Amino acid sequence: MPDFDRELAETDDEAVAAAVEHAFLPPLLTALAADLDDLSLVPGHLQPDLSIPMDPTGGLSEAQLAEGRALAVEAIKRLRARGPQPTRALPVDTLRVLLSFVAGGAEVDDYLELLREELNLGEDLRTPDWTKDELAPERPFRVAVIGAGMSGLLAAHRLRQAGIDVVVLEKDDGVGGTWYENTYPGCRVDVVNHFYCYSFNQRTDWPDHFSPQPVLLDYFRGFADEHGLRDLIRFSTEVTAVELDESTMTWRLELLGPDGAEDTLDVQAVVSAVGQLNRPNMPDIPGIDEFTGPSFHSARWDHGLDLAGKRVVVIGTGASAAQFIPEIAGEAGHLTVFQRTPAWFLPTPEYHDPVPAEATWLFRNVPGYANWYRFFIFWQNVEGLREMALVDPEWEGGGASVSLVNDMARQLLVAYIEGEFADMPELLPHVVPHYPPFAKRFIRDNGAWAATMRRDDVTLVTDAIAAVTPEGVRTVDGTVHEADVIIYGTGFTASEFLMPMKVVGRDGVELHERWGGDARAFLGMTLPRFPNLFMLYGPNTNIVVNGSITYFSECSVHYVVGCLRELLAGGARALEPTQEAHDALNERIDAQNCRMAWGVSDVNSWYKNATGRSAQNWPFSLLEYWQLTRRPDLAQYELS
Ligand SMILES: Cc1cc2nc3c(=O)[nH]c(=O)nc-3n(C[C@H](O)[C@H](O)[C@H](O)COP(=O)(O)OP(=O)(O)OC[C@H]3O[C@@H](n4cnc5c(N)ncnc54)[C@H](O)[C@@H]3O)c2cc1C
Repeated sequence: MPDFDRELAETDDEAVAAAVEHAFLPPLLTALAADLDDLSLVPGHLQPDLSIPMDPTGGLSEAQLAEGRALAVEAIKRLRARGPQPTRALPVDTLRVLLSFVAGGAEVDDYLELLREELNLGEDLRTPDWTKDELAPERPFRVAVIGAGMSGLLAAHRLRQAGIDVVVLEKDDGVGGTWYENTYPGCRVDVVNHFYCYSFNQRTDWPDHFSPQPVLLDYFRGFADEHGLRDLIRFSTEVTAVELDESTMTWRLELLGPDGAEDTLDVQAVVSAVGQLNRPNMPDIPGIDEFTGPSFHSARWDHGLDLAGKRVVVIGTGASAAQFIPEIAGEAGHLTVFQRTPAWFLPTPEYHDPVPAEATWLFRNVPGYANWYRFFIFWQNVEGLREMALVDPEWEGGGASVSLVNDMARQLLVAYIEGEFADMPELLPHVVPHYPPFAKRFIRDNGAWAATMRRDDVTLVTDAIAAVTPEGVRTVDGTVHEADVIIYGTGFTASEFLMPMKVVGRDGVELHERWGGDARAFLGMTLPRFPNLFMLYGPNTNIVVNGSITYFSECSVHYVVGCLRELLAGGARALEPTQEAHDALNERIDAQNCRMAWGVSDVNSWYKNATGRSAQNWPFSLLEYWQLTRRPDLAQYELS
């Protein structure tokens, strides 16, 4: 008997009841109904009410929760008595009932196939259903993947499943990308981990709801090891240029290897997986090089530097800074925090908490519970919140809100900040954002931010910075804030996609010259004049409402594999989108981004490039990205 079956068999009724107290009830009942093939476990009167955003109870009353828990306990006892059974595929009608229940009665028909993939109940439905050997056994076809972060590893895995010769070039000496490079104190994911992982490689034993960086790095390392991906990777090898040879329709990659050794590599297709948030952004502040003490960016944390007793200045209060500032406060002698724009905080009491042992027991012992919980998060926290970001053109929010529901969210969030800062009223004008919720990414908070700002050894400065001086930072009012160390929490050069690589396509056209600082692509992945070049996490594939980028990368990789299939099956040498298809989709994206809070607000954010356009975000639903990336529509492509 496998360990987990023995664990269930040996758990007494009292422990089962104790575990159920820690359950997310709607997905638990759904998982039990699916496994026991008993729809009476998902009765209409216990259907969650998801009109209350992000409520972990699913809007159920105490009486409903009590009844639901009792049902769940009895069902788990039945599971225990029945013993282990192989996971079975759910008939579509059953799936529809269960999905609709956990989605609070929503109409789920359009989502059925997507959610079946996301649920991944016993079968990885995104595995390519073809291999190169079946389609074009004789054709030399090698693909270079640039980057071995979450997206690059995924691409390598899928391409290899399709039997394609793949080589991965990675500038670092390890896998993991974001989770390899960002080692600052407090670094952790801000999406519930059950959703921030590959659909086909879910875990039931995440130690935390929001894992810290070392756990995520282990996850991606483990994935690479388990699937033998390391053998495909050339580490410490940076791609400096990719150039198309039209006569042979091959891409030549220029490589800078370990110890500066230069090399080239010729391939038939390139998948760029270099990330949007991989190149640190250093602010353009006069005198930045004149500071005489040590300074570093959060993504290049200097672990050799002891901050104890030092006067530390932090520039920036974005997502990374909001994580490390509470960690280093108290260690530094004095911490001065420079804030340009206050963030919206998303109250998340469990943000730093481990998953309780009882909850982990449930994830481990109730088949499919973790998967249904993943779906619950997807539905409730991501797709379900999009409406709040939509602009109502009739709404007069004075730049502070964009619709009635957005304004209601604003009021709740302001109330949270006012509660947190109740004993620091002098800070309130500086910590309540003037811009609408959803115009920037939320920062999760469990009270750590206000607790940090309350400390005597922490100062929040909101005056604009005039210059960095040899002694510290001078603000516009002439005050010099002396520092022993400066830490830049100033984010990444997100809108400079694929930089600093030189990318030359047909007729010698260089990609960055063509973009002129305003990157765009077809579905974030392909480009006219750049045949057989694909991007993952490319332009307009980021998501604002704390969704998971793994979702986008899974959709994108599926599409890229589909494009390669077309090339191999049809015998064409090159595939690129038509200019018309590219332009039409971008027009639609731009128009919709201008109907979203992040598109209309004038607040500074990494969601906009220098031209003011949102080159970052996908403005439509997650469903729509999935639908558009099912398979390439050849009417939108030129094959030659
Ligand atoms: C601190 C931080 C926290 C985040 N938190 C979340 C979160 O909570 N939820 C979420 O969904 N997303 C989050 N993100 C976004 C995160 O980047 C993505 O979730 C995801 O990790 C992107 O994976 P990727 O493989 O596309 O890119 P990356 O992880 O950035 O990996 C890119 C890889 O490409 C390599 N590379 C780059 N250029 C070259 C080159 N020229 N040659 C060779 N190799 C190259 C890099 O070394 C790196 O290994 C966070 C990002 C940061 C920085």
